[in-house]
Parts: sequence; structure tokens; C-alpha cells
Amino acid sequence: MRLGVDVGGTTVKVGFIDNYKIVDRLVVETKKETLFQDVCEKVLAYAKEKNYKIDGIGVGLPGHVVGTLIDKLPNVGIENYDIKPVFNKYFPDAKVYATNDANAAALGELLADDSKTKSAYMLTLGTGVGGGLVIDGRVRDGSHSNCGEVGHMFVDYVHNYKCSCGLNGCLETIASATGIVRLAKQYYNAFETKIKKEMSAKDVLDAAKENDPLGLFVLDVVADALGRAISIIELAVDVDVFYIGGGVSNAGDILIDKITSYYKRYAHYAIKDVSIKRAKIGNDAGMLGAAYLW
Ligand SMILES: [Zn+2]
Repeated sequence: MRLGVDVGGTTVKVGFIDNYKIVDRLVVETKKETLFQDVCEKVLAYAKEKNYKIDGIGVGLPGHVVGTLIDKLPNVGIENYDIKPVFNKYFPDAKVYATNDANAAALGELLADDSKTKSAYMLTLGTGVGGGLVIDGRVRDGSHSNCGEVGHMFVDYVHNYKCSCGLNGCLETIASATGIVRLAKQYYNAFETKIKKEMSAKDVLDAAKENDPLGLFVLDVVADALGRAISIIELAVDVDVFYIGGGVSNAGDILIDKITSYYKRYAHYAIKDVSIKRAKIGNDAGMLGAAYLW
């Protein structure tokens, strides 16, 4: 049996995986000081009780990771920490692998996709924008283990908002939940709108679905930026499919259709038939993908 571990800020999700299916799961509430020990202790006790044999462990981590060495997880507060020794202390015979959580999610979505594709890119639109690349069924971390960081791709010439990374005009300043709220606030007085002044990204996207003029305008700016970004990413990676995940993707078809339409406008003629889909398995993708890193 394979173990797929998806590490979040205070909650760690663990999937027990057999033949590409999550057959059992655990959620471990923890704190950064004892995060991996807590996970190992809980999983070991549970696996013993259920008589599960763990052959390998894959871990998706929310930050920069090189091999099994965590460089930095800004939202968890862990730096410079190798996860392999701690997992092997509890599971001495298990293989241990790790990657960025967006890469794990990309592989998870690909494995859950019926279209039998082998190469895919996933964009996760949440508080920020993350990306993950799978080529020939393998996660590609890149030479700096940074190849998914397309949230910091320069796409916005118009607003050129300052990004948390220090650059300006990053994709993340537009296509994240934070970016959506910022755009709605900037254009608030330019449209008749039913959106209340203190809004969430969900409020804006829900309004767009009901043809609210401000909601539709913001959605259009977001889809334009994503269509442009995907047309650039695809030139470099040439995959079959892009999955759009994260909270913002809950906008559904209206967002996916608009992104696809902008993509077709910006894409090179040889790559126009790329499929852009909403991520299907959402929160489970990270666990499933992590379990197939080897
Ligand atoms: Zn940035």
C-alpha cells in the first residue's frame, strides 16, 4: 500500500492508496514543531490497527522542496528540514519521496483523468497561483525544483500591481483570490453592481455567474491573464491538457470557457487544440499524486 501525504498549514491529510484509489484516509491536526512526528505516530498506529503494510510514502509540501529536503514552507514555518529520516524512523522499509504540493496535485488530477493523457500542467488558483508539471506520467521538479512557479510570470501590463514576491504584474496579482478582490475594489465605482463593498473572491465570481457587470468584468480580466499565461507556458512545455484547480476554479464553466477563448486568441497555431479543464478531484489530488512520485 502507498501513502500519499498532503501537508497544509495546520492540517495534514493522509491517504492510504491502493491501485490508484484512496481506500482509506486520516486527517492529522498538528503544529509545526512536531508536524512530521505527529503524522508518523498517527499513521503507524492506524496502519497497525488496520493491518496495512506501507511500501512507500509520498509527501506534497506547500513550498520549495529539493528531493526530500524542505528548503522553505512559508505558511507552515518550517525551513531546512529533511523529511526522509523522520519517516524512515517510523517506517524503516518504506521509500520516501517529496515534491511541491502543486506538482503532486497535477499528477493526481492526471491519474484521475479518464482521457489517458500522460502530460499535463495544473494551475492552482487560490490565495496565490501555483503550478505543477507532469511529463510522461512523471512530475518534473526542474533543476531548481521551481518549475511550477508560474504565479510569478509577468502577464499584466495594464495594472502592474506589486506582487508579494517583489516583482510587478505577476499572474498571481490578477488570477488569485486576492487579485480578484483587488480588481473588484479598483473598478467598484465603474459599474452598476450588486456585489457588496467588502467582498470575497467567491462573491465576485458568484455575481459573474448571475451576469453582474462588475463580476463579469473582473472575470474577463482574470480569464484574459490566464489565457495569456497558458499560451506562454504551453510553448515551453507542450502538454495535452491544463487543469484549473483551487478555490477560484469553483467559478466553473463560465471561467473555463472564457480562459479557453482567450487561450485560442493568444496561442501559437500549432498548439491551439490544447484542452483546458476544471480539476476534477480537488482536495484529493495532492494525496493521490504524492503516492505516485515513484
Ligand atoms: Zn510575483
